[in-house]
Amino acid sequence: MLETINVATAARAQLLDITREVREALLRLGAGEGLCHVFVPHTTAGITINENADPSVQRDILVYLDRLVPWQSDYAHSEGNSAAHIKASLLGSSVTVPVERGRLALGTWQGIYLAEFDGPRHRRVVVKLVTE
Ligand code: ZN
Repeated sequence: MLETINVATAARAQLLDITREVREALLRLGAGEGLCHVFVPHTTAGITINENADPSVQRDILVYLDRLVPWQSDYAHSEGNSAAHIKASLLGSSVTVPVERGRLALGTWQGIYLAEFDGPRHRRVVVKLVTE
């Protein structure tokens, strides 16, 4: 009971709404009741849930994460993308959403986002359904 979503991000930092893709994955899993676990198996991307109505919320999140963790600083990691690693850890690599009668029990204004911090890249997101 595992599905994979493949997405291409378009910028170094981006919040990409993957709610529709997660819903489609859930349909393929034949969802009933349980928990939907959405996990990103990458070290410079995260998963988060936030507002899907006003796009300026996504912009503000990215801008303030940048202020908190600037791209250039006295990082030791030789790959040069420490900021992306740190932001990925701040947001975390997964979210879990209750599933009721086959549907994600998200709030009205909630969307599930892949948070890209070292793009553009191809990213994989794993969706696992844990049934009751
Ligand atoms: Zn790195």
